[in-house]
Amino acid sequence: MEISLCSDCFQDPGLRMDAERVGIEADGACPVCGSATGRKLDQQLIASVARSFFVWGTMSRSDYGAAPIVQFNEHQKTSIDAPPWLEPDLRRIEEATGFGFFLYGPRLWMVGGVEPLEALQDPAQREPVIRRIVAEYPAGTLAAGEVFYRIRKGPARPDDAAQYDSPPAAGGGRLDTPDNPVMYGSQDLQVCIRECRVTAEDELYVASLAATRDLKLLDLTHLLYEEHVTEFDSVDMAVHMLFLAGPHSYEITRLIAQGARAAGYDGVIYPSYFSLLRTGGMPFETAYGISLRRFPQAAGYERAKIIPNLGLFGRPVREGTVAPRGINRIVLDRVEYGIRFGPVGFDREPWRPEDFSEEPSEA
Ligand SMILES: [Zn+2]
Repeated sequence: MEISLCSDCFQDPGLRMDAERVGIEADGACPVCGSATGRKLDQQLIASVARSFFVWGTMSRSDYGAAPIVQFNEHQKTSIDAPPWLEPDLRRIEEATGFGFFLYGPRLWMVGGVEPLEALQDPAQREPVIRRIVAEYPAGTLAAGEVFYRIRKGPARPDDAAQYDSPPAAGGGRLDTPDNPVMYGSQDLQVCIRECRVTAEDELYVASLAATRDLKLLDLTHLLYEEHVTEFDSVDMAVHMLFLAGPHSYEITRLIAQGARAAGYDGVIYPSYFSLLRTGGMPFETAYGISLRRFPQAAGYERAKIIPNLGLFGRPVREGTVAPRGINRIVLDRVEYGIRFGPVGFDREPWRPEDFSEEPSEA
């Protein structure tokens, strides 16, 4: 290992902690700052720290999609201004690696410039795209006997299985409408708890439920393989962005649920909004400006970033399509966050696809 820098080379507290996390213990003094105790970094580890701190650490969400505000490579000179405590660190990274840091011009698709997604936002154009989604995504099965979980905050009668059925007043969630109630659940208990947006004060209960027959579900977590299609006309990218977006997307996801129900499905399997927080996955990762979802060899990697949730149509407990295995009280005894740092001073208004006059070139 050829040491180029160490964690003690840095002044910015967050960058220093990121470098401590990534760097390795090695004997000897750092060639730059002389520290014997700093965690050592070679070129590859510096690139990894820089990517985490400057790229991931400036990730900015738009209505759909997200893109980093800062990017770096070995071809450009540094053109960003850093706060005074970070400035010397930036110089040290530059000198040690030749990397230049600059404001990134995202590709249009990264911030929601995806044709099927734009069509879905337009009531006059969305119908055919919804039909395509229902037709092209594969059917998945929740097999009879397979267990999943449903969490309730402070139910009136915690021991009554009916309390864990679809909520009586449907229409407020990601998939449900007044005429299409949906029971939400997941096989990942951690995600269930996050989806409920619980606090330490909440009285929490979990019902372990199992399907009483094989349930046929539209699997929206599938990576749709599309030939001769770019991100700009990708239905896969549209659906991926849709389920990682907030409540402004519900109007659309509810229509997909209605379409699936009309096509005879018992429900849908959909990507949890909290997938990336649960798996630590980076949103909308690219290689050379192309989404990793487009590379068949990265399919397993991308799939592993997504946590599937279940949305079952109707009132499955009352209808008997799922049966409770038991109900338990949940006590949260520890909450832990994974933390990365980023620089300050790089906030900006979210990108909007309509602000792009033309497709910007990859820097
Ligand atoms: Zn050092």
